[in-house]
Amino acid sequence: MTDAPLIQGRTGEWEVVIGLEVHAQVIARAKLFSGASTAFGAPPNSQVSLVDAAMPGMLPVINEACVEQAVRTGLALGAEINLTSVFDRKNYFYPDLPAGYQISQYGQPIVGKGEIVLDLADGGARTVGITRLHLEQDAGKSLHDRGPNATHVDLNRSGIALMEIVSEPDMRSAEEAGAYVRKLRSILRTIGTCDGNMDEGSMRCDVNVSVRRPGAALGTRTETKNLNSIRFVMRAVEYEARRQIEVLEDGGAVAQETRLFDPDRGETRPMRTKEEAHDYRYFPDPDLLPLTLDAEWVAKIKASLPELPDARKARFMAEYGLIADDAGVLVAERESADYFEALAEGRDAKTAANWVIHDLFGQLNRAGGEIADSPVSAAALGGLLDLIAGGAISGRIAKDVFAEMFASGREASAIVEEKGLRQVSDEGAIAAIVDQIIADNPGQAAAYATNPKVIGWFVGQVMKATQGQANPAVVNAVLRKKLEG
Ligand code: ADP
Ligand code: MG
Repeated sequence: MTDAPLIQGRTGEWEVVIGLEVHAQVIARAKLFSGASTAFGAPPNSQVSLVDAAMPGMLPVINEACVEQAVRTGLALGAEINLTSVFDRKNYFYPDLPAGYQISQYGQPIVGKGEIVLDLADGGARTVGITRLHLEQDAGKSLHDRGPNATHVDLNRSGIALMEIVSEPDMRSAEEAGAYVRKLRSILRTIGTCDGNMDEGSMRCDVNVSVRRPGAALGTRTETKNLNSIRFVMRAVEYEARRQIEVLEDGGAVAQETRLFDPDRGETRPMRTKEEAHDYRYFPDPDLLPLTLDAEWVAKIKASLPELPDARKARFMAEYGLIADDAGVLVAERESADYFEALAEGRDAKTAANWVIHDLFGQLNRAGGEIADSPVSAAALGGLLDLIAGGAISGRIAKDVFAEMFASGREASAIVEEKGLRQVSDEGAIAAIVDQIIADNPGQAAAYATNPKVIGWFVGQVMKATQGQANPAVVNAVLRKKLEG
């Protein structure tokens, strides 16, 4: 456990307290209570059943696939699964909510307490408690930009299953909030219950922030709604913490309110004062029986869970000898962990990890791409590593070849042959170059007797003369022989 990082204010130190509510869209073909499709990007109002449009007299029927996804997620979070849970009506008016209420879960959610372990940049870890996970319907979408005098409503999203995952107020910095969302998303993607595409809105985050003096009771919180990127989550935390500290240091009080984040200005601003929970007049939905699960069914789902990121990280350390940092970076996304394992198969694992983390991620960052769209496959990068391991090219030349592979999508061997980049390992050829350099630099050669480190300078000269193509092992051996002899 790391100590909570504190913020230095004008009047002393402050601790930031953060709890997150994440809405994760469930991967399922049909909606939570109807058979309408959930496919993304369809024309407006083309995927709306009578239930989703809240026609009078229509009855919701629970979709078992969505229930299974919620249970799978709860199990992956190490959480209690409640064999009996209840669907409630959460009543409020909104133009894109045709029923006038949302079917959600309140007093008895399907999943109870669990936890997520965060890996922090300083190598420390923090365990964040999960308070609950419940199932609920998404609302439709109001479109304000389709005409100058009208707001249009698209009900395609109406009724799609969401998991609301609520954390305990256990986070203490923007970094931890970011790490939490990243870890949660990685778990959801690994088990296939949410695609985690925040820019498409399939994962949205409400950020609760308060500040307090270290050791004091919890302060009043604000809730910043609907953040759709990890960067915005972190910036909202930073902005809110600073704003609240200023309010308190000026002798004011933080108002408990809902705020919106403006990404262009990097600020939050008030949206409405926070409703008390009873304003929603929650009551059990009379159209739905309590949801009861079979313990054996739950056990079967548990047995079918894939290897989770924490377990995979531990295995990468044990099986491949990776350090914690490298293993953590690789398992952060399922795709990068898969890529690494394909590359490491039959090759030196640490070399493979270095190439993925430094070279591949470096190129991907510069290109702004994801590993899934990498122009260099694990097999292709493997081809490059095999050329290095076999002595055909030097590690130095390999960097240039890799950049070329990334830019053109071509194979390493084709680039090496075309550009004549094969490493020179021929002792005679290297000896001739070495002789010339020693002859041109008698002073440096003489210095070797008292300062053997000067050999490094000679290696550099040989590499320069051969455009990096000389085999370093052969160069070193020849140089030592000549300088000593
Ligand atoms: P609501 O449903 O009204 O949003 P909850 O009690 O469910 O309220 O809490 C929502 C979130 O707020 C949770 O993630 C919780 O951890 C967080 N939270 C509660 N109190 C605080 C606080 N004082 N500071 C920061 N976060 C808090
Ligand atoms: Mg809330």
